[in-house]
This record gives sequence, C-alpha cells and structure tokens, in this order.
Amino acid sequence: MSTESALRIVWVYPDLLSTYGDRGNLLILAQRARLRGVPVQTEEVRTDQAIPTGADVYLLAGGEDAPQTLAAERMLADGGLRRAVEHGAIVFAVCAGYQLVGSTFAARGRQYAGLDLYDLSSDRGPSRAVGELAGPVDPELALPLLTGFENHGGRTHLGPGVRPLATVSVGVGNDGQTEGAWTKGFIGTYAHGPALSRNPALADLVLRWATGRDSLEPLDDTWHDKLRNERLTALAARGKNVPPGRRQSGPVATS
Ligand code: GLN
Repeated sequence: MSTESALRIVWVYPDLLSTYGDRGNLLILAQRARLRGVPVQTEEVRTDQAIPTGADVYLLAGGEDAPQTLAAERMLADGGLRRAVEHGAIVFAVCAGYQLVGSTFAARGRQYAGLDLYDLSSDRGPSRAVGELAGPVDPELALPLLTGFENHGGRTHLGPGVRPLATVSVGVGNDGQTEGAWTKGFIGTYAHGPALSRNPALADLVLRWATGRDSLEPLDDTWHDKLRNERLTALAARGKNVPPGRRQSGPVATS
C-alpha cells in the first residue's frame, strides 16, 4: 500500500545483505504495525537503486565479507542513508549491516570504511562466532532477554555515543561481554533468527520510536514465545547459563 501517512520501511540492499532469515525482520515489523492499525509501505531497495531519504525505518541485514564490502562502497557513494538518518530516520541493523554503520569494519584481510553513522567500529576476532546468542537487554530499554543466532568473524567496539544492547550470557556478540548497540533511533545487533521474530518486543520498540507512540496494544505472541522458549530450553539443556526472562510477552514497556 502507498499512502502519504503510511509508515515507510525500507530494506536496504536485500540482493547483497540477507542471511539466516533476515527478511523476516521486514515482515515482522510490517505485520506488527498493521495489526495495530498503522498503514505500512515496505520497499526493497536493491544495489542498483538509489536509497530513498524520506522513509521512517531502514533495515540492514547480514552478509558475507564480499557482498558486505560492495554494499559499503555503494552505500557510501549513494549517501541516502546518511541523509535519512540526519532527518531522524530509524535504523535497525543486523551483523554485516551493524558493522557497516560504524566507522570501519574488517573483511578479506583488511579494514574498510563504514558509513560512520554511529559511534562504533569493528575489526576481526580470533575465531568465528557461530551459534546461539542470548543475554539480558540494557535495563533502560525494559525489554525481555535477547535471543538469536550469530555467525560472524568480526568483533565490534562501542564508543560513548552508543550503549550496549545487551550483555552476553551465551555466545559472543560484540566481544564476548556485550552484544549489539543502541541509541535512540538505532539498534544494531549480531542476532539473526530473524532477530525480530525471536524478539518481538524489540520490533515493538522500533515501532514505538517510528510512530511516536508511548505504548502499543499487546498482540498474541504465542508463536514467538514458542520459538523463544524452544531455543532457550535447548540452551539450558546443554548446560548453558540462560538467565530468566524466557517469555517475551507481558505488559508492553513504555520506555
Ligand atoms: N561478514 C561479517 C563477519 O563475518 C558479517 C557476517 C554476517 O553478517 N553474518 O563478521
């Protein structure tokens, strides 16, 4: 649908950046908005298209090193995402997309310039981080435990302009201690799964920012909870230290 008042969600470069079900982030976000009566317009902007500057939310997904470097080159040349962020657009970025919005990232044996939109940078870690990722979210966001799947060689270092999204209980995330980053209007995470399916409260945070609403009507999250609980139960069964907070549903946070 396309109306003047619709919430515009843009997925940037799905032809280069899309791994482990990241498309689901677009579907979940759009559906959770529509279920609250918010009209939504979704757009998939491919590498050979200009990034529009007037959308409300921009999604960036994961990718292997080669497509990631190409995406960085195209995004820097395009400049549209920077202009959108300067106009207040919201960014939800996963893995390669998360690394790309920082100042630099490592791929194929060297450092590449990122978009430098947020105060973070990435280099290479001693080993690949592959597997489940879980941990409590920054209490300031009042969200349930973060869960996801990670697969990355990079490690991410945060500056004072952003806060860690979560602390790591299982997995590696940024550096084995913290996972992801956020500041008002931006969430970066290493969590695939897709992240917004495994963490629908995170989707609702993005929607609250995008709509300016303090709270959103609760939805039936039975299936999200089943998915979360299945993954977290599997971790607990493997002796992993999974903190409480399995169910994500409950009162919708207002922060
Ligand atoms: N290429 C990046 C890395 O390995 C990101 C990987 C991903 O997006 N899954 O760190």
